[in-house]
Amino acid sequence: MENITDIAKQISDYIDSHKEEMISFLREFISIESVTYNEGEAVNWLAKKMEEMGYDEVRIDAVGNVHGRVGHGGKVLMYDAHIDTVETGDASEWGFDPLEGKMDENGDIWGRGAVDDKGPLAAIVWAAKAIKDLGLEDKATMWVGGSISEEDVEGSCAEEMMRLEEDINPDYIIVSEPSDGELKRGHKGRALIKITVPGKAAHGSCAWKGENALIKALPIIKGIDDLNDFKEDSFLGKGSIEVTKVDCKTPSLNTIPGEVTIYCDRRISCGESREDLINELKPVLDLVPDATAVIDEELVVSYTGYEINAEDYFPSWEIEEKHDIVQAGIKAYEAAFGKKAVVGKWDFCTNATSLCAKTGVPALGFGPGDSSLCHSTEDKVNADEYLASAKFFALVALTASEK
Ligand SMILES: [Zn+2]
Repeated sequence: MENITDIAKQISDYIDSHKEEMISFLREFISIESVTYNEGEAVNWLAKKMEEMGYDEVRIDAVGNVHGRVGHGGKVLMYDAHIDTVETGDASEWGFDPLEGKMDENGDIWGRGAVDDKGPLAAIVWAAKAIKDLGLEDKATMWVGGSISEEDVEGSCAEEMMRLEEDINPDYIIVSEPSDGELKRGHKGRALIKITVPGKAAHGSCAWKGENALIKALPIIKGIDDLNDFKEDSFLGKGSIEVTKVDCKTPSLNTIPGEVTIYCDRRISCGESREDLINELKPVLDLVPDATAVIDEELVVSYTGYEINAEDYFPSWEIEEKHDIVQAGIKAYEAAFGKKAVVGKWDFCTNATSLCAKTGVPALGFGPGDSSLCHSTEDKVNADEYLASAKFFALVALTASEK
């Protein structure tokens, strides 16, 4: 490769000269609502844009994810950012239309999905266009993916896409979510654990005839709250478990419940297996011998009607700092931003759980924006940061291909 500084300059000039177009692109993208399971219109819009931008190939898979390819040389990098957003919520709380794609005097672009995850996705889309228009296609292969349903079942649709589109076969994955200016090399996983406590329903006036499942469940709820003895990973920290919901099966409010379901959010650190998640509950479950625990499952139906039986188990993801893709990221970051890269971890779970942890493909995380603004009424991304991120995404395709 030519000197990285020269290439970084070419890419930087290219992106800067497309600033207005890139801003209009993101604002228009925000204006197309794409709440989870209703992403079709935004997917079609993006696919059409990729075609107009001169991508070498554009596909929409059976699940409904969109993928565009630019280039054919070097390493194959699959970039992933999700196209779905959470609901906009009450417009009055925003003070403006959250689908307007508003831009303020500070250069911040506002609206639902601006930071999570349309800003990051738009930056990737433009990075690939830069590679194409600068004639760098024989130096790297970029697959740009807009994946669906991340907000509900992170990774499940992306994982299915990896199975369906096996010819993509990436060497590396770049997961793009807001990363607070850092490169990310891991995050905890999560699981949804469902505990069922049986009882016997009876009318409140003769409760002695039944067995109140809610009262029976109390020692389990307390026992889970007391659990704290999880393995600790030096990078990701310790796992955790929290009771998040209790459902009572009862036909009326004057009947004692015949069954109770307790839901628990389990954050998973490195070195904790799927089996550990159930086995560690045994001392708590033993308090109520007929209680049972499973990892929950849900049937996901995408906007195309594609069905996936998604298990609510998303393992942790961690890659060593010395790995080639992390080092390529550091080199690209320093060339794009002109400062030293900080490598850290995300506090939340992303598509890397499936794309990297389940498939074993090495991944790196990065994206413009402040992750604490996700899902809030301050959902916004700064235009300069969005542009700088596009430069990084183009450069990392090249630095990763050097290895
Ligand atoms: Zn996100």
